[in-house]
Amino acid sequence: MRPICISGEPVLHRKAESVVNITDDIRALVSDMFETMDAAPGVGLAAPQVGVGLRIFTYNWVDEANELWRGVALNPELLLSSIEPGPPNLDEESEGCLSFPGERFGLKRADRAVLRAMDLDGKSFEIDTRGWLARIFQHEFDHLNGVLYIDRLSETDHKIVQRVSKKMGWGVPGHSWKPGEDFLEP
Ligand code: ZN
Repeated sequence: MRPICISGEPVLHRKAESVVNITDDIRALVSDMFETMDAAPGVGLAAPQVGVGLRIFTYNWVDEANELWRGVALNPELLLSSIEPGPPNLDEESEGCLSFPGERFGLKRADRAVLRAMDLDGKSFEIDTRGWLARIFQHEFDHLNGVLYIDRLSETDHKIVQRVSKKMGWGVPGHSWKPGEDFLEP
């Protein structure tokens, strides 16, 4: 298990690098990412969140039909439908982030996403999905480009983010938390 970086850690705010070779180090990293994501618990985790600036994310989601979607995406590409205008429906369109733990905010996302990526064996795969899994993919893909969901919020919510950040001492390098030891997620 690895500590999860909190907003302010530079690796979270810059573009991650592509994976060139799938080495034993990469396999160990992905195994740790699954363990950390499950312990947090989270529905997704990107490598920069555990301090590694590589284009890798893991996801774990059980959909409405009780089907488990669990996997790892290396060097992903993401195609999106357009985002409907208007404010988010807070019951269905709120999300949180393990790198800004304990908070949730409403955010509009594209309803449909097509993920194209490589698995740990170097095999390409594609997932064409809607709803929550599409949201997870967008959230994790953003992490690989140095974007946190709190960077995408309305002005009002962004002010709350800044207040929380100030209160917690976040927004500067050096903060992380360990699932199972620190209890920052409700
Ligand atoms: Zn996140």
